[in-house]
Amino acid sequence: MSTKVIQRPRVDRSSLSFVPDLVYFEPAALEYPKGERIFQWAKQEGIPYKMTTSHNRILNLPGDTELEKYRMAKRTLVVGIRKTLKFDTSKPSAEYAIPIATGCMAHCHYCYLQTTLGAKPYVRIYVNIDDILDAARGYIEERSPEVTRFEAACTSDPVGLEPISGSLRELIAFMAEQPHGRLRFVTKFHHVDSLLDVPHNGHTRVRFSVNSKYVIKNFEPATSHFEQRIEAAAKMAGAGYPIGFIIAPIIWYDEWEAGYGELIEALDKALPMDARSDLTFELIQHRFTKTAKGVIEKRYPRTKLEMEIEKRKYKWGRWGQGKYVYPDEQANALRMFLSERIFHHFPQSQIEYFT
Ligand code: SF4
Repeated sequence: MSTKVIQRPRVDRSSLSFVPDLVYFEPAALEYPKGERIFQWAKQEGIPYKMTTSHNRILNLPGDTELEKYRMAKRTLVVGIRKTLKFDTSKPSAEYAIPIATGCMAHCHYCYLQTTLGAKPYVRIYVNIDDILDAARGYIEERSPEVTRFEAACTSDPVGLEPISGSLRELIAFMAEQPHGRLRFVTKFHHVDSLLDVPHNGHTRVRFSVNSKYVIKNFEPATSHFEQRIEAAAKMAGAGYPIGFIIAPIIWYDEWEAGYGELIEALDKALPMDARSDLTFELIQHRFTKTAKGVIEKRYPRTKLEMEIEKRKYKWGRWGQGKYVYPDEQANALRMFLSERIFHHFPQSQIEYFT
């Protein structure tokens, strides 16, 4: 592994756009236009960079403790080639997960990537988009004339990375031309400006993950603010994209009714009228596994996230380890309050599920 590191000038972070502290490149990634563009960007920004033989083997990140290494990993970008072009399934919201990136720079305390990504929490962007699109084309043909849906946010937040990768633009334009292909992704970021003029043909649905101000402030560090996400949703709706909202995780706290009431009202104020007839909501109450609780307590030792097993109901999991959700009385109160508020403000919308 080369150790070429250059000194970087000060970087303006006020835009909240992700600027990594360190970038790794697989040498072959530089043979692709996207890899070369990101390389030039890193040099121009003065970000230290290194070469690596594989995006799966990033070792020796700076940091004395496990926690320091974790934080550094979240600020490390790895630019590589996606070799596995067999897509994972992504039921029930889509047939397949389309892999354009892995990992996320944000620090949502409850994020499931903390357990699923294990020892590789660094952020990876894949540059061989044409190979990925060819594979998607194959999956679409296989199921044709059935429609095939692809989810682009299973292992990352692609909008957060879009200013660096530009990959969503390519996916959206590709899917616009697929009579039997659809794209979906979910985000907690607001970097949508470069997506507004992409021809999408209504084939991409963007869902914004929103929450009360309290939840965003306390549990979602390094994501876009409440107002930024709502403004971005309005922009995407204005550009004709079908949109939706995922309210997740819905958290029970002292002022939850006021917080979630304020959220639905803010959505109502911001959303253009013609975006409301094809609007979806997905509602997910906070849950955790025993493994996740252990990881979260180590990585965010001062978190206010309530994870007392005695206060929760155990829900058996299909694949082994079960989850702790709210007891029925609390879950029902959350579901009823939110459903009532949503239908009051958005009578034509569809609540896809509460889980
Ligand atoms: Fe996880 Fe999404 Fe938060 Fe990123 S923005 S840390 S993917 S929950």
